[in-house]
Amino acid sequence: MGDKIDVKGLLKTKKEKLRKRVEKLKQKNIVPKLAVIMANNEDSSRIYVSKKRDLCAEMNIETVEYIYDESVTSEIIEKKIIELNNNKEVNGILIQLPLFKHLDERKLLEVVSPEKDVDGIHPLNVGRLLQGNTGIISCTPKGILTILESLNMKWEGKEAVIIGRSVIVGKPMASLLINKGMTVTVCNSKTTDLGKHTREADLLIVAAGHPNLVTKEMVKDGAVVIDVGINRIEGKIYGDVDTKNVIEKASYISTVPGGVGLSTVFSLIENLVEIAEAAIDIVEEIK
Ligand code: NAP
Repeated sequence: MGDKIDVKGLLKTKKEKLRKRVEKLKQKNIVPKLAVIMANNEDSSRIYVSKKRDLCAEMNIETVEYIYDESVTSEIIEKKIIELNNNKEVNGILIQLPLFKHLDERKLLEVVSPEKDVDGIHPLNVGRLLQGNTGIISCTPKGILTILESLNMKWEGKEAVIIGRSVIVGKPMASLLINKGMTVTVCNSKTTDLGKHTREADLLIVAAGHPNLVTKEMVKDGAVVIDVGINRIEGKIYGDVDTKNVIEKASYISTVPGGVGLSTVFSLIENLVEIAEAAIDIVEEIK
């Protein structure tokens, strides 16, 4: 029988440390500020934005939100992003995805200055990650890494299997694990025999958006299982893993809710603080 990873407990300590870094910035008259752009009608996005706002408030970080209705155009949002890029008081810009379908999502994401791309999804930051550099790292993979590091295990040389190849989860996660010396397999909806791959995994990361996709029979004894999926069924949230049974085989499992979602929001704030700190370093170097 494995253990459920106590992500909340882990983040409690990490939040304390981050709060001290925010205090240090304040002593230098810098209050980190996050700008959020939201242009969709989805309840889930409203919930995500409120979670980010709450954590910012808890960490004494300022937020400013720009909420648009369906009449907004790509040009209006582009103008706002450029204004925020040039605003020295704003450290990070977050575009809450998805955007309304008529908006040019890809183009708008590229308008955000890579230095203020708090979500780590600008092509330049994604490219830096591929090169093995530590630029701004995409929040969900970074949050997963935080969870993995808390387990104090040796990952080098081990097998990792990721289910899902999205740009915000699967692909950057694969890069991070490759950089750690793991052998990584990335599965997708066309993978013919998912279980054949998952049964080899010392580390199994599941980000498909399908409840109960991973069952006990698909997991290797002693594997670490990280459930990323979020599925809303009759008002309740479920992950992609059949946790109740998989925990009998796994050594550790991160659950939904209470797992990756928490560490993802934390990573966003961590990225914001890192951006604010980097700006000071540059000023001090010039001095
Ligand atoms: P996405 O863009 O829809 O990607 C899903 C991926 O899963 C795709 O690559 C898809 O393959 C693959 N997939 C779907 N069904 C599969 C199956 N039966 N077998 C193997 N692969 C399958 O979603 P995403 O943005 O990566 O998010 C994935 C899940 O994680 C969602 O439930 C989302 O809500 C959740 N999520 C959670 C957090 C968090 O903070 N907790 C953050 C981000 C996402 P194809 O490419 O072939 O279609």
